[in-house]
Amino acid sequence: MTQGTFFPEMRGKLGFGCMRLPMKGGEVNYDEFTRMIDAFLAAGFNYFDTAHCYLDGKSETAIGDCLSARIDRSRFLLTNKLTEPYFDRQEDIRPFVLQQLAWCKVDYFDFYLMHAQNRNNYKKFQRCHAYETALALKQEGLIRHLGISFHDSPEVLDNILTDHPEIEIVQIQFNYVDYEDARVQSRAVYEVCERHHKPVLVMEPVKGGSLVNLPPKATELLQSLHGGSNASYAVRYAASFPQMAMVLSGMSNLEQMEDNISSMRDFQPLNPQEMTAVQQVVAVLKQVEQIPCTACHYCVEESHCPKNIPIPELFAVKNQYELYHSPYASQSYADLTHGHGLASDCIRCGKCEQVCPQHLPIRNLLRQVADVFEP
Ligand code: SF4
Ligand code: SF4
Repeated sequence: MTQGTFFPEMRGKLGFGCMRLPMKGGEVNYDEFTRMIDAFLAAGFNYFDTAHCYLDGKSETAIGDCLSARIDRSRFLLTNKLTEPYFDRQEDIRPFVLQQLAWCKVDYFDFYLMHAQNRNNYKKFQRCHAYETALALKQEGLIRHLGISFHDSPEVLDNILTDHPEIEIVQIQFNYVDYEDARVQSRAVYEVCERHHKPVLVMEPVKGGSLVNLPPKATELLQSLHGGSNASYAVRYAASFPQMAMVLSGMSNLEQMEDNISSMRDFQPLNPQEMTAVQQVVAVLKQVEQIPCTACHYCVEESHCPKNIPIPELFAVKNQYELYHSPYASQSYADLTHGHGLASDCIRCGKCEQVCPQHLPIRNLLRQVADVFEP
């Protein structure tokens, strides 16, 4: 496996995003996760990514039990993050990081990111001297490299990277649909990283799974090339850009893991013919209106929606309905809302929109969902 261009300790360009781990009865399925870890390491990859908000802390403890407790520390890289709800003052940060190290059963994090930076929460990170505190932790050896993950405009990123030249790496949302998207602006954000000479970590290369389950016409375009899954083209697309240090894939089962390994083990950037097919897929997708939700679940896990509405699941079922007009969509809607709030139960408090990294107008979108499924 090739060494990283930017960080020699990185192996290959595929990272294991641990935010959508295999679950069983509400807990991480340790047997399946362990098999996935072993397959990933055996293929020569070594980069794992987590955060305390993933699976309500269960991602970190599963990493501790299934990875760190079994595998020599020198064989893997682990990234963790400082997320906004878990500190109110500078003094809260160090104990929180120490707790994260304990949950993950490691003595240091290879990369530590200021999580989900945007124009609003950046102010809090500044006020609480989060960057300075992380730098002190780096000097202590508890963190090897300092970075950020980012969800906002190119201008905001430019400001943060100018304020903090000590940032070594930037995680951004990047995929072929968002590349020229006016809201996400992946291309422009990527170009800011290039200008500041920052290596890039890619999140959402398959856009929360949207680029896996493509409409038939788009799938045909990719299948007419030479085989390879829809996901493989999306992951390879993101990895094809020169500033990319690593592409994270949030894998939920061994099958997804094996598919990613097969396309990234001997990674080749997309050739011109493949790139053309991807552009044609973008054109097909633009014809179908989709809610650009990435299923990150921040809106439900961090806002604690007072009506317990399963927002990302309802958006996914609406998207599937728009793409396929499946007769089963109404049944899926009924199943998803059983024991939860309906789209029409939304009281428009706006808590969810405050934390949505995609800046989606969730309240209005829920009205559209209700119009379709609760006529
Ligand atoms: S605006 Fe609606 S969906 Fe969002 S948190 Fe409030 S009640 Fe829940
Ligand atoms: S609505 Fe926004 S916060 Fe909620 S899952 Fe979708 S992208 Fe994430």
